[in-house]
Amino acid sequence: MKRRQFLGAASAGLAAGALARPAIAQSMPEIKWRLTSSFPKSLDTIFGAAEVFAKAVSEASDGKFQIQVFSAGEIVPGLQALDAVQNGTVEMCHTAPYYYVGKDPTFAFATAVPFGLNARQQNAWFYHGGGMDLLNAFFAKYNAFALPGGNTGCQMGGWFRKEIKTTDDLKGLKMRIGGFAGQVLAKLDAVPQQIAGGDIYPALEKGTIDAAEWVGPYDDEKLGFQKVAKYYYYPGWWEGGAALHFMINKAKWDELPAAYKALFHAAAGIANVDMLAKYDAKNPAALKRLVAGGAQLRPFPQPVLDACLEASAELYSETSAKNAEFKKIYDSMMAFRNEEYLWWQVAEYTYDNFMIRARARG
Ligand code: CA
Repeated sequence: MKRRQFLGAASAGLAAGALARPAIAQSMPEIKWRLTSSFPKSLDTIFGAAEVFAKAVSEASDGKFQIQVFSAGEIVPGLQALDAVQNGTVEMCHTAPYYYVGKDPTFAFATAVPFGLNARQQNAWFYHGGGMDLLNAFFAKYNAFALPGGNTGCQMGGWFRKEIKTTDDLKGLKMRIGGFAGQVLAKLDAVPQQIAGGDIYPALEKGTIDAAEWVGPYDDEKLGFQKVAKYYYYPGWWEGGAALHFMINKAKWDELPAAYKALFHAAAGIANVDMLAKYDAKNPAALKRLVAGGAQLRPFPQPVLDACLEASAELYSETSAKNAEFKKIYDSMMAFRNEEYLWWQVAEYTYDNFMIRARARG
């Protein structure tokens, strides 16, 4: 190439670059947001998902989009994360939407409902079963847009000071329990309490409550429940696969450039996969340590599960009768669940069941 031609090509390239620059600046402006988490920093699993998200956004935007993550209580208490997003105190939060069932029970479907979906089914419904479209239409009334951002997998039923042998043992039992399930327990004459993660241990230690559920072995061990209640029940029938969400102030979401919206979808997807993987990887060893330390594993007796299932069905039909939006999302999710279990009983369940028995035989 002759020098003259080379210079010509180079300057053409420079000109094109100069023309392109404003478009680049517009699609990826420098932005700083604050995210309030509903969880304490000590829980690297569930709090960590917000850090995974913020890191992915920062790295993929070459540091242009910075999201500072605050733990529960630093800006607002854990159970007020959505309120802070609604009123614009922060741009976004990482939370379990079922904390807001007091505003409307419909919020529960975004996290988990009693005898609802397992973790894989929850994602299938969110992403490919119309779940997120329905939920985001609902969240818009609360000035928020949500992206799935983590799942705990099936939870444990929690820590009890006394054994639960019949439904009578639930009468008068003061229990910390997340979301809509508290209303099911209330039907069986228990006394549900909604308490943020970091505040459960002192309540159980002081005896303000008789039982508490949080998530599963890895988190529960960190929060120390085994020191104050020894019976560890399973399964957490109210959280077959509890989902977390990144909830974003809707006006702030709407004004983001398309490139950042795509980045948020990708980063939330990474956090969603990572959190479940972390729980699945860390729970087995934690369960062994808890049992070695004296925790007494107990399955909920079948009649107790049956009574809870019946009370849940009653609650769903009562709530559906007075809340059209709840009914619409309930119908979608439950139809999806029934189809999923039709499939699950063929390959997934047969495989897992065989492997669990084979392992037990050695
Ligand atoms: Ca829970």
